Amino acid sequence: MDITSQDIENALANQEFELQYQPKVNFLKGRVSGAECLIRWNHPDKGYIPPDNFIPLAEETGLITQITAQICLTAINAVKELRAGGFSGSLAVNTSPLDFESNIIIDILQNAIDTKQIVPHDIQIELTETATLNRQDVVLSRLHRLIDMGLKLVMDDFGTGYSSIDLLSQLPFSALKVDQGVIGRMANSTKNLNIANMVINMARTLRMDVVAEGIEDKNTYQFLAYAGCLEAQGYWISKPLPFDEFRTFVESNPVYPSSQLGMIYHSHLNNVYFRKSVFDAMLYANSNIDLNMASAANPDIHFESENSRLGQWYYGIGQELSSRENFQSIEEPHRRMHEIGRLLFEANVEHSNDLIIAFNESFERVNKHLHLLETELMFEENARLIEAAKGGA
Ligand code: C2E
Ligand code: CA
Ligand code: CA
Repeated sequence: MDITSQDIENALANQEFELQYQPKVNFLKGRVSGAECLIRWNHPDKGYIPPDNFIPLAEETGLITQITAQICLTAINAVKELRAGGFSGSLAVNTSPLDFESNIIIDILQNAIDTKQIVPHDIQIELTETATLNRQDVVLSRLHRLIDMGLKLVMDDFGTGYSSIDLLSQLPFSALKVDQGVIGRMANSTKNLNIANMVINMARTLRMDVVAEGIEDKNTYQFLAYAGCLEAQGYWISKPLPFDEFRTFVESNPVYPSSQLGMIYHSHLNNVYFRKSVFDAMLYANSNIDLNMASAANPDIHFESENSRLGQWYYGIGQELSSRENFQSIEEPHRRMHEIGRLLFEANVEHSNDLIIAFNESFERVNKHLHLLETELMFEENARLIEAAKGGA
């Protein structure tokens, strides 16, 4: 199918572009948490044209930013309308780095925030490195501005050639979207399964949330819930829907399986990592390496227990488990671990063996109760699954 830039210009002028909304579900709550906005083009003569057939041309010709501008305005109106109906999720729009070579997109979003049409939480920006980052500094500084405005930046298609670990180091992405190819291949081999796991672990280590797209069956959904992803998207939940259908979908308030097991696993990993970071920092300090250097080498040391990744889970969504004894038993030793960790790190103590022993004791108590809590939840989950399998048989 031959698409010309004139076709795209006409489509822009005649408002031929529409959006569909593909629901996303929060794995921890089992509820709809938002949608990704996907462009749809029904050409009056040529019929439906998939985005992959014209987005690259739009990028080459620079028309992409006009498209993104229209999409942002549509998404802003959509989220306004949804919020009026009680929706509290967010809509994610797809953008290209080229969109940030000018102020056009930033101005649209800033204006919508200033005029209180949206709150920053309402719109997320998905960014794919499809086009090479020209004028990189300008683009990066605009993306930083977006984050300062309070918007969330999501790296799209992670695991493909279009998104790089290098870009992760240059921008504070709040989430990483694992490419559907990585998700789709998970079931093929243990190796692919481990690749998916490693990507999730990497994102969590960098304090980012993980969105998994292209989930086509329940097993994949379950696996990713246990692996510690935050949000799910894919045909198993729903295909992209026109606005009215999406609104009906949200209003029906569908419930999906949810689990905290993944977060408990990552809290455990975080705790192991924190212990090692503290010990490393101590070794640096005792070998007369500049302390700044030691802390730069250990960016994940958060001495306020609330700010550690374990703490963020514990005082956040983890509170749903607050009536459980094993959950309660984590707080005191975890707090203590961070207190002693600070002493070990700051004091540059030569005779710190007693502190290290106390640190280890707290560490082991945290682990013990995390593991007992995990086992408790696993028993319950198992019983649920067996029950569901009986029902399905
Ligand atoms: P993407 O951002 O990776 O979007 C996800 C694509 O996967 C969508 O295809 C969606 O319909 C499809 N999909 C969702 N769930 C499943 C699933 O379970 N299985 C499979 N096999 N596919 C699934 P779509 O709508 O054809 O979009 C293709 C690409 O075009 C998008 O990939 C995105 O890169 C680009 N695109 C779409 N809308 C826009 C837009 O508004 N602006 C820009 N710049 N790019 C867009
Ligand atoms: Ca996307
Ligand atoms: Ca994607």
